[in-house]
Amino acid sequence: MRSIEVIVNPSFEKGIKNGNPLLYKEALLNVSGLEEGQIIDIKNKSKQFLGRGYFGIQNKGVGWILTFDSQTEINEQFFERQLLAAIEKRKVLIQQENTTAFRLFNGEGDGIGGFTIDCFNDYLLIQWYSKGIYAFKEMIIQALQKCMSFSAIYEKKRFDQKGSYVEDDDFVIGKRGEFPIIVKENGMNYSIDLNDGAMVGIFLDQREVRKTIRDKYAKGKDILNTFSYTGAFSVAAALGGSKSTTSVDLANRSRAKTTENFTINEIDLAAQKIIVEDVFHYFKYAVKKELLFDMVILDPPSFARSKKHTFSAAKDYTSLLKEAISITKKNGIIVASTNCSTFDMKKFKRFILDAFENKPNRYEIVEEFQLPADFRSINILKESNYLKVVFLQKK
Ligand code: SAH
Repeated sequence: MRSIEVIVNPSFEKGIKNGNPLLYKEALLNVSGLEEGQIIDIKNKSKQFLGRGYFGIQNKGVGWILTFDSQTEINEQFFERQLLAAIEKRKVLIQQENTTAFRLFNGEGDGIGGFTIDCFNDYLLIQWYSKGIYAFKEMIIQALQKCMSFSAIYEKKRFDQKGSYVEDDDFVIGKRGEFPIIVKENGMNYSIDLNDGAMVGIFLDQREVRKTIRDKYAKGKDILNTFSYTGAFSVAAALGGSKSTTSVDLANRSRAKTTENFTINEIDLAAQKIIVEDVFHYFKYAVKKELLFDMVILDPPSFARSKKHTFSAAKDYTSLLKEAISITKKNGIIVASTNCSTFDMKKFKRFILDAFENKPNRYEIVEEFQLPADFRSINILKESNYLKVVFLQKK
């Protein structure tokens, strides 16, 4: 494909020269008439070559630089090389028998912004974040077929108006799966459906957090898991020998999906409560009933609107923490997690500090997690390192 020359706004030149591949909206001076998927050569005003990439409108930016070398062409061989490099970096994970679900390719962290690939046993899931990268679908799939074997590929198109999921049959190629399938993560079983809407049943970036809860914190404890979705943290806690788990989520689907995840791990359901309710309502109930937990897990979405409540992690995390503090036992643990990319770990810790401000209790941070190694990110692009998880002990 022929590339089109695009001149960069001088104030973005330095960032590109420092290796930032994200093309911000204001960075390109003449984008009118560019089509999604167009290969573009980024140049400065004196026509010096800065990088080659593609045009694709995404919630972050309008495209990505794929190479800083003017000799490198964007073609099937290019995609194949990047995919092989990503596979090589996951060699150890790929060989593990007790973990069969992980991220194989993480967008810009693996050299190509705009899409990710996850493995679920021998199924692959590709998530596309712009129409621009979707234009390379055939090329990417052909390259993928050369690099590895798989039963089938499924996809999530995350590029409608607001960057959210486009409802569709998500099957792409191969032999259709019979879902749900059961994947393994550090020996734990999780139920996955790759063709049931926007979410598949698990968030793979929390693997180390689930393992830590199971191996170091759960034994003999009463655990409250809020925003519990399919109960993945509750399963880890129960397998770690918790006394009880309580999973709270607003979505009706959470009851059946959480029960299923307990069942496929042969967990005794008698000690596991599943509550379909607004978390903020549950906090009030728990305070009224004087319920206290050894561990409270908070993993809300960045934004959520329920009938009575709008929650924004950037604005409301401190008050969420305050609610959790009031129902956590002394010396108990709060797992504070967020995937909100608009603030960093430093600011997140500030939210924690603020939440304890007028409380009689002190706290100590006992564990900290960011993205695991398979979710590769690049240092220069802070927002690509979105995950922040802090375990704090209430004193
Ligand atoms: N912690 C989960 C992932 C959470 S995804 C895990 O480890 O897999 C976010 C979840 O929050 C969704 O399942 C959504 O239904 C739920 N949710 C959003 N707003 C809520 C609210 N006000 N009360 C309870 N659940 C809520």
